[in-house]
Amino acid sequence: MKKQICILGSTGSIGTQALDVIEQHSDLYEVYCLTANNRYEMLAQQARKFRPAAVVIANKDYYENLKALLADMPDIKVYAGAQALDEIVEAGPVDMVLTAMVGYAGLSPTIHAIRARKTICLANKETLVVAGELICRLATQYNVNILPVDSEHSAIFQSLVGEGNNEIEKILLTASGGPFRKFTLEQMADVKAADALKHPTWDMGAKITIDSASMMNKGFEVIEAKWLFGVEADKIQVLVHPQSIVHSAVQFADGGVKAQLGVPDMRLPIQYAFSYPDRLSLNAPRLDLFKQPLEFFEPDMKKFRCLAMAYEAIRQGGNMPCVVNAANEIVNEAFRHDRCGFLQMADIIEATMQKATFITKPTYDDYVATDAEARRIAAEMLG
Ligand code: NAD
Ligand code: MG
Repeated sequence: MKKQICILGSTGSIGTQALDVIEQHSDLYEVYCLTANNRYEMLAQQARKFRPAAVVIANKDYYENLKALLADMPDIKVYAGAQALDEIVEAGPVDMVLTAMVGYAGLSPTIHAIRARKTICLANKETLVVAGELICRLATQYNVNILPVDSEHSAIFQSLVGEGNNEIEKILLTASGGPFRKFTLEQMADVKAADALKHPTWDMGAKITIDSASMMNKGFEVIEAKWLFGVEADKIQVLVHPQSIVHSAVQFADGGVKAQLGVPDMRLPIQYAFSYPDRLSLNAPRLDLFKQPLEFFEPDMKKFRCLAMAYEAIRQGGNMPCVVNAANEIVNEAFRHDRCGFLQMADIIEATMQKATFITKPTYDDYVATDAEARRIAAEMLG
């Protein structure tokens, strides 16, 4: 029996690489459903090639266009809207859901998939930033595996294979440092989106590339690691590692450190989430350790305030990481459209943290309200 996979966000960076993995192993995996937000033409092309049972376009404005492009393929059902995403992940034949959409929009379908007892291959880290406690509680309750796709978390996960209940003493979370690693604050004040979109080692979607430049991405990954591996944030050390070869490591009680290394290529962590606990062949470049030295530096939290704020948010707990995520989505988008300065992003997030209503034990409805409130506060500050 081939595993049936639902890809949320199939037209993005992770989504297209996931389709490459599925194509390389078409004897094991089959696409059950493909989804996108706006890019209906690419979605239709993917559907023609992979023949899923269904496609969903989240933006309802493109429903008719998509339907027309697939009119000669009556076996592929076409749906539209955010609610259709919540419903499609619950479909009986689906074994695994790859959450490769960007932002807060990933939360609701992930909850629906967990309740329907589908294995989650989690790329959408925002889900765990916003509602890590809720997601972990539901995963335990419904006995669902959450397999990390983020390269650092996959590396940690791979390092933990065979360790049983051995305690984690420390997580060593690596970061490339982004394109502004060597910039002064004065230089950072003037950078534009085009500069930030030139990531030194990874080719990713626009939102996460900006988050990498500000190191908010690494802050989010600290929060993601806390929930995935049950390790407090003060035991998660960020290491700037410009080569992006050591994808992260775990230190154990005896001082032993296990890491996973490889060339920067997301297809390995995507494939490992699909195939775990097995390893499959992957037709991709191999690591050459003779090529370059491996370096590690301490992160500069004064320059990269977003990283410090993410640590502060998880220390405060409750809905604070949800506040940070919402404010970050607003300033990230504004920066990409030249409506917010690079350093101003951190100022607005910090002010939103101070102004938003703090909730110690948020429910799902509290997260929805917090997300809306924090977006409003951050947007007002942009003017
Ligand atoms: P991307 O921008 O390239 O693609 C995003 C996908 O999600 C697209 O298919 C888009 O149509 C869809 N989408 C966007 N907004 C949506 C919405 N509101 N509703 C439904 N669908 C929507 O993004 P990406 O780089 O592939 O990243 C996807 C997720 O994976 C993010 O959460 C990111 O943090 C995470 N991630 C990405 C990488 C990477 O290498 N790209 C690495 C680690 C983690
Ligand atoms: Mg990562």
